[in-house]
Amino acid sequence: MGSTEGLTGPLADYECTAITTAPQIGQLNPPHRLLCGPGPGNAHPRVHAAMSLPEIGHLDPAFISMMEDIKRLLRYTWQTNNEFTIPVSGTGSAAMEACMANLVEPGDKVLIGVNGYFGLRLSDMASRYGGVVVQIKVPWGQVFSFEQIKAAIEEHKPTIVGLIHAETSTGAAQPLEGVGQLCHDHGALLVADCVTSISGVPCHLDKWGVDAAYAGTQKCLSCPPGVSPLTFSKRAMDKLMAREDKVKNWYLDMKMVASYLVGGKGATRSYHHTAPISMCYAIREALTIVAEEGLETRWARHREVAEAFWAGLAEIGLEPLVAKEHRLPSLTTVKVPEGIDPKVVTKVFLDKYQIEIGNGLGELAGKVWRIGLMGFNSRMDNVAVLLACFKDALAQQGYGA
Ligand SMILES: *Cc1c(COP(=O)(O)O)cnc(C)c1O
Repeated sequence: MGSTEGLTGPLADYECTAITTAPQIGQLNPPHRLLCGPGPGNAHPRVHAAMSLPEIGHLDPAFISMMEDIKRLLRYTWQTNNEFTIPVSGTGSAAMEACMANLVEPGDKVLIGVNGYFGLRLSDMASRYGGVVVQIKVPWGQVFSFEQIKAAIEEHKPTIVGLIHAETSTGAAQPLEGVGQLCHDHGALLVADCVTSISGVPCHLDKWGVDAAYAGTQKCLSCPPGVSPLTFSKRAMDKLMAREDKVKNWYLDMKMVASYLVGGKGATRSYHHTAPISMCYAIREALTIVAEEGLETRWARHREVAEAFWAGLAEIGLEPLVAKEHRLPSLTTVKVPEGIDPKVVTKVFLDKYQIEIGNGLGELAGKVWRIGLMGFNSRMDNVAVLLACFKDALAQQGYGA
């Protein structure tokens, strides 16, 4: 028994028990799964191999030259010349939060396109950093037209516009062509969530005038989660550097991180936090694989594989939620047919076939499944397996009988 006697307040409810024996929990043995949900996807074997290389210090010249490789490869992958293009320590949400923490100043009007779950998350983050959030909405699964965005910018005059390029909760791809120019004409910065688009769906950040973009590694880059790509244009950096207040997040203060990971001309790099070295090896390898394949080839592969999957779905009478012209190749939401319990289906996938697919999120919970064919997993063999599993899992509930 613990000695909490006499304590008042919240601690009084706890008993302190000394740990006297070492727990015997055995060897770690995670199951081998095919990860075809909304992420993580399976990492490329070469990425796993890179992660097991020996550590170096994060101020070692070898680390600094590796960081330069990562930045160059990221610029290629995103089609941008932005000097500030880095891997943030943390998952995609950390890079998302870095955008809001650094670019939103208290009182800034932030216009956010909400057509799924991640627009809501972005709104939440913007408001936490003092942004005055204005949301524009279309039903989940649809995208915003250029005219809609234009009208909203003219009406609300935001300083920042946030759009989700690839909405992983719905499977919709938001067109961004021309949107950057539109924002700049009205004195706003364009922020784009590219977590589920990077390297799987065409991304032309400079051509589209995107000022800040963030991504994740565990989707189309086929790298475990842990670091996340982030890029700021000169416009975005200028806004950050002109801030009079301190960024309200120490860890994600990109002014400080920049002097660590980017440095200036002749400036020495100073310690900020310890970069996750093994994750840096991982993203370097993942991006090298992207460059070896070539972006155009990689985008085409994702599309071709997705098209085969959609054709197969049609054959078994299953229908994607999103209209074909706005459908993401990397993530397909499939409508749950009437009378089918979606969670029983995902359980058959997992228990019988060792395959993870996703259930619906937010407004779409219970209405769709989410199937990711991302990066290393975007392959015809996986399409065949997924379709066969759907047939079996649905037949178990009497579908098509
Ligand atoms: C996965 C995802 C995120 C969040 O990334 P985490 O790595 O889970 O933190 C943000 N936006 C979109 C569109 C995503 O798909």
